Amino acid sequence: MSISTVPQMIGGKATTDAALRTQGTQPPSTRLVVNPASGQPLAQVEIDALASADAAVHAAANAFPAWAATPVGDRCQFLFSYKQTLEAHAEELASLIVREHGKTMAEARGDVRRGIDCVEFACAAPTLLMGKSLPQIAVSSSFCRTEDTSGAGIDSTVDRVPLGVCVGITPFNFPVMVPLWMWPMAIACGNTFVLKPSEKVPLSAVREVELAHKAGLPPGVLNVVHGGAAVVDRLITHSDVRAVSFVGSSTVARHVYSTSTAAGKRAQCMGGAKNYIVVMPDANRDAVIEGVLGSAFGNSGQRCLAGSVVIAVGDAAQWFLPMITSAAAKIRVGPGDAPGIGMGPVIDEASRDRILGFISSGAAQGATLSLDGRAASMPQSGCFVGPTIFDNARPGMRIVDEEIFGPVLTIIREPSLDAAISTLNRSRYGNMGVIFTSSGYSARRFRTQAQVGMVGINVGVPAPMAVFPFAGWKQSFFGDLHANGEDAVKFFTESKITVSRWL
Ligand code: NAD
Repeated sequence: MSISTVPQMIGGKATTDAALRTQGTQPPSTRLVVNPASGQPLAQVEIDALASADAAVHAAANAFPAWAATPVGDRCQFLFSYKQTLEAHAEELASLIVREHGKTMAEARGDVRRGIDCVEFACAAPTLLMGKSLPQIAVSSSFCRTEDTSGAGIDSTVDRVPLGVCVGITPFNFPVMVPLWMWPMAIACGNTFVLKPSEKVPLSAVREVELAHKAGLPPGVLNVVHGGAAVVDRLITHSDVRAVSFVGSSTVARHVYSTSTAAGKRAQCMGGAKNYIVVMPDANRDAVIEGVLGSAFGNSGQRCLAGSVVIAVGDAAQWFLPMITSAAAKIRVGPGDAPGIGMGPVIDEASRDRILGFISSGAAQGATLSLDGRAASMPQSGCFVGPTIFDNARPGMRIVDEEIFGPVLTIIREPSLDAAISTLNRSRYGNMGVIFTSSGYSARRFRTQAQVGMVGINVGVPAPMAVFPFAGWKQSFFGDLHANGEDAVKFFTESKITVSRWL
């Protein structure tokens, strides 16, 4: 599919969709996919194509028996081939991300690279799926005594078996990587999958799935359906769906978790975040500035691992504030594919207006505006906001308590590490927390006391590799088993116990 001719229509499965629409479903409405740096329309995407959702689940359900019966080693042959295909198309995918999302080319390459990591991890499925066994299980309680009271000759095993049709619903901010958190491991485990990508960035997901079919994935194993809330609600309550993996804002994560679990589905729902970085007076100053700059302003602040609040402890603010303000003011803002650009646009006009509203609220609620992103040198058209820094903020202000999801850094001053940890722990979110220090004692205290699922020590963005779970806490996560790592293997499989005796 070419995206150079615009706008084009992206729907679900066109043939089945058309057939189902003649049965009485309303024609779907659409949303324009726009390059946020230029305002150029790229495509149109259906947003309430319920018939497409049904058709996608139907295709996945039909493909499940044969795919589940395919030996795991053979399923992995596809993943090896897909990894090579992604490597060969990495630059193309990164360019597509820049066009529809707006991030810089370097950030887009990172998006693809971290997605490929997930495919590589899924290639280990033969090892990851191995069950356990215990020969000669003991029979000690009277209720299971048989004529053979020793239990000799009775063996027990647990196998991990696929669930069936799994659904993935993804956000706009990592258009290639987040879908790859989900479906490669799901299908490696023998499930079939329906992906509902963000309607703001559907082109990258479509290309990602096209490449999977180019790499040899059989039809029906992986399906894409486009849409918004109505399509999500249809998918997560569909009788043929067994499990739901969601990534997005906390409000929607809670809704998807409660709705899908009430409908009997297994669910893991990754939500929003408000992440704190504690800067101790003894920290390496250059490492702090580099780490905070990347964490707060990378991806224009649109990361669930963005460090958006710095707690400067003791007199750290005296050097931190001038250094970070000077460094942030030097970030060049513009289209992500232009040379020398350090920060691209935010995703759309609604998002830009929301961020500008937060900047106004910070000033109105009494924080000190140290760097005003509204006054930055940047293109006049497109959805741009420059790096913004507030000092002297306090909990209770909207810029401290709410997720902004934009390039706004808020500084709080606290007298001690314990006061900093206590402020951090007030947050209703718990995705990640970072400390910059040269003290092992402070680092250890932070690691044990901070109520977050991912801790960074002298690292601005503690993003786990795909072999580890992506482990948000509190309102940053709804469910039990996280994405990635062995959690993902357990999430996408069921335990089956066999107790056997051969007479
Ligand atoms: P979003 O919640 O608006 O949308 C996410 C998905 O949910 C999209 O596919 C969208 O179509 C769907 N959706 C939106 N409203 C819905 C509704 N009312 N009912 C059902 N489905 C609905 O999120 P976004 O703006 O695309 O992404 C940004 C958010 O994602 C931020 O809050 C960010 O922190 C979060 N995020 C979290 C993680 C994590 O791992 N915790 C990772 C990336 C992004």
